[in-house]
Amino acid sequence: MHIGFLGLGNMGAPMARNLLKAGHALTVFDLSATAVSGLVEAGATAAASPAALAKTDVALIITMLPAAAHVKGVYLGEDGLLANVQPGVLLIDSSTIDPMSAREVAKAAVARGNPMLDAPVSGGTGGAAAGTLTFMVGGEAADFDHAQPILAAMGKNIVHCGGAGNGQVAKVANNMLLGISMIGVAEAMALGVALGMDASVLAGVINTSSGRCWSSDSYNPFPEVMDNVPAARGYSGGFGTDLMLKDLGLATEAAKQARQPVLLGATAQQLYQSFSQQGHGGLDFSAIIKLYRQEG
Ligand code: NAD
Repeated sequence: MHIGFLGLGNMGAPMARNLLKAGHALTVFDLSATAVSGLVEAGATAAASPAALAKTDVALIITMLPAAAHVKGVYLGEDGLLANVQPGVLLIDSSTIDPMSAREVAKAAVARGNPMLDAPVSGGTGGAAAGTLTFMVGGEAADFDHAQPILAAMGKNIVHCGGAGNGQVAKVANNMLLGISMIGVAEAMALGVALGMDASVLAGVINTSSGRCWSSDSYNPFPEVMDNVPAARGYSGGFGTDLMLKDLGLATEAAKQARQPVLLGATAQQLYQSFSQQGHGGLDFSAIIKLYRQEG
């Protein structure tokens, strides 16, 4: 299939490469010439603008952009996708944005005769490179069925979450819980150690008891409890504090619009904001344990 791909950053570039590997023809666009030339070397064709990409004979377009403002610009702008794409071409936005913006763009797309799915991902840059991302997809069931084999070239769990925007709903709810649970594990581990317990023994008890969760048994924030996690390498790599802060901001903003209380989500957002202000935005999000330990 001939696919258009816009946004060739840390996530988009490896996702686009997996589409090429699966035998699809790709036309790509990014504001960064370096990002485009990397994909052209791998076999893609470059387009000069979103409008130029939309005017080719692509059957489907995928976008992977930083935030809602970029998504709205690329889809709704004068030189953007909707003003130039053929009716019927399926549009898939995999950026992480707020559900209301996703619904606004999908409504505008459908009004112009283009079906649209929101399909944010989890799995990070490692999952993008390995083709093992989870896609949380919002939109019509028939459009989901159409997109499924394409998304399967980039991911291994592809879940239909309901109507437009619901992929983003699943993503913000999950990542809000992840932010909260990481802080909870950090707090409990720091308390146990401050009271005299060995960190590894404590982690072992938690991980076979009712406090167990992914943040404790697969991504423990306490140094030297686990190998192969950011806490074992000075909190480098992994999922950055500023990316977690972005997702908690989306969750609290969406909650505000729904008048839904998110008491712990808002507290987690403030703790990550404070941690980022202290200059730790580039560290993995499990480094939040430093708020509780001087030597952490
Ligand atoms: P990135 O900043 O590395 O890449 C974004 C790309 O979009 C850049 O190459 C940039 O030049 C391009 N871009 C920006 N505006 C553009 C425009 N108007 N037209 C064309 N290209 C434009 O970001 P990323 O890490 O690839 O993340 C992309 C999305 O995926 C974000 O919404 C992020 O929240 C989400 N996400 C990231 C991760 C991760 O671990 N990095 C994990 C899950 C989800």
